[in-house]
Amino acid sequence: MFCKTCGGLLLPKKTPYGKWMSCPKGHSQPELNQENNVISIKNNELGKVITVSDGKNVLAVHDHSCKRCGHGKAELVDLGSFYSDEDSVYKMKCGKCGFVEQLEGKVK
Ligand SMILES: [Zn+2]
Ligand SMILES: [Zn+2]
Repeated sequence: MFCKTCGGLLLPKKTPYGKWMSCPKGHSQPELNQENNVISIKNNELGKVITVSDGKNVLAVHDHSCKRCGHGKAELVDLGSFYSDEDSVYKMKCGKCGFVEQLEGKVK
């Protein structure tokens, strides 16, 4: 591959968005720039997914085996007395798959 501006040989360049061919003299490559946009959009989506799963894992600190996927950590959700007149109602939300299991008045 050669530079569209100066005809020089393009060299692989590493960026936060990925690796692609770039002119060592810094000329922009119109065709490659289009590709770069696609790469950065994909990267942004990936970043969002990571943020969401990190948020779940931070809250999922209680030892609880998920009945659906077997994951050992769950998030404790206290619903107070909204759904029960006597005991508080608790729910364990799996930190991995999000499965919610209801536990009544037996939270350690
Ligand atoms: Zn060039
Ligand atoms: Zn699970």
